[in-house]
Amino acid sequence: SLNAALNFGAGPAKLPREVLLQAQDELLSYKNMGMSIMEMSHRSKEYAQINTNAQNLVRELLNVPDNYKILFLQGGGTGAFAAIAMNLMSKTGIADYCVTGTWSLKAAKEAAKYGTVNYAFPVAKKPGYIPDPSTWNLTPNASYVYYCANETVDGVEYHYIPETNGVPLVADMSSSIMTKEIDISKFGVIMAGAQKNIGPAGVTVIIVRDDLIGNAMKICPSVFDFKNIEANQSIHNTPATFSVYVMNLVFEWIKKNGGVPEMEKQSLRKSQHLYDTMKNSGGFYSCPINENCRSRMNVPFRVGGDGGDEALEKQFLVEAERLNMHQLKGHRSVGGIRASLYNAVTYEEVDALVSFMLQFQKNHS
Ligand code: PMP
Repeated sequence: SLNAALNFGAGPAKLPREVLLQAQDELLSYKNMGMSIMEMSHRSKEYAQINTNAQNLVRELLNVPDNYKILFLQGGGTGAFAAIAMNLMSKTGIADYCVTGTWSLKAAKEAAKYGTVNYAFPVAKKPGYIPDPSTWNLTPNASYVYYCANETVDGVEYHYIPETNGVPLVADMSSSIMTKEIDISKFGVIMAGAQKNIGPAGVTVIIVRDDLIGNAMKICPSVFDFKNIEANQSIHNTPATFSVYVMNLVFEWIKKNGGVPEMEKQSLRKSQHLYDTMKNSGGFYSCPINENCRSRMNVPFRVGGDGGDEALEKQFLVEAERLNMHQLKGHRSVGGIRASLYNAVTYEEVDALVSFMLQFQKNHS
């Protein structure tokens, strides 16, 4: 069917309709050249222009200062876990990891292959909170401090930037980049897989401060060496050209729609609508995450009272699908429901989900 589904998937996730239509329009003949951008050399001037434009838009949309470089890598967020360690760890051989959920734990385990990983606080058995920064055990001479700004699986988001007393701060913003204004100068490195808020899978954006480039370990593959990627403007080898092309269209779309400040405003409005619905449900819907770190992007909840009623949750998903609402199932590791509200998801779509939730509660309580 050509009717767009209401897509609440966690990633790969919904892309703006306008972007898909433009990609469709240009699919067979990019700029009247009689071939697709997919079929063109990554050394062509057409691709070079897309690549440069996309980097310029990251700089513009996020107000990236001049002393930071913007790189495009392959290997996904998971590749970046290793790349970050291999580029930064050599300074002292120690890095601090703040583990607040699934993705920061994976990052810590990957980094431990390349140096000593210190956990800033104990790993929670059940994620859902962030220990107060005053209790963190940070290493004064750490090469960097790492955290995940938004835990996609668990629905835990930092609503502040951690203070590290001069140690470079590294953030995984795979599921929150370009949804919130941030002071880039507070960071050493920001990494983000594109497939949630800014594009399709296949490209990872790295924003890195100048002085952190050029220290890669000898074993670091050339495709992950920030210095090499920077020197080649992210065309060291064949990039995921089509993914970068679509990501560039998404950047143009964000710019046209009010930029990051507007994305932030909408994200608050959309997520608040869902959290309010839960709060007013008399316990029928519940969110297991501490109120001070609830995510604007990934909203996990249980149906049918505390801890959730699995049969009712199954029924919830069946009825949602009948209404064309898709990818609402919680991650297999946590269960329940998860609604992801990335940039391309509209308030009207969230409102449709809320209407369904109200009706479902009426019918089943
Ligand atoms: N970090 C975060 C916050 C993520 O949500 C994900 C993937 N969903 C990853 C890292 C890993 O990304 P990838 O699957 O591209 O390796």
